[in-house]
Amino acid sequence: MHNHIICPKCKNSLNVERHVIFVVEKNDGSRGLVLLSSEIGDYSIRNNPSIEIEEGERLEFYCPVCHGKLSVQHHPNLVRVLMKEKSGNECEVYFSRIVGQKSTYLIKQDGKIEPFGYDSSEYFDALM
Ligand SMILES: [Zn+2]
Repeated sequence: MHNHIICPKCKNSLNVERHVIFVVEKNDGSRGLVLLSSEIGDYSIRNNPSIEIEEGERLEFYCPVCHGKLSVQHHPNLVRVLMKEKSGNECEVYFSRIVGQKSTYLIKQDGKIEPFGYDSSEYFDALM
């Protein structure tokens, strides 16, 4: 299922077809574009060849529209975006900004947390 992902800051859509587009910044300050799958639980990542992305590195994620930082203050390794459901409700999506770490959490409007990914136990308690 392909989801409609929006920026929590400017509320613009981050999807193009089946992908969600982000600007990422590496530790050395270099930036580039990455495409993630809009399907939750699909961890494929595509990047422009101008930026080399290595397993295990922690990236800073920015909205490509407003350039707002998407990392969250209360957890150094997580990024937060919003997902618009068919009903029009918005829920929160948190995912790990460490390349290769498969940790995604969907937080519904009623506060229920749905974890996805092999490494989802990693931050589950931090979100409770
Ligand atoms: Zn934005």
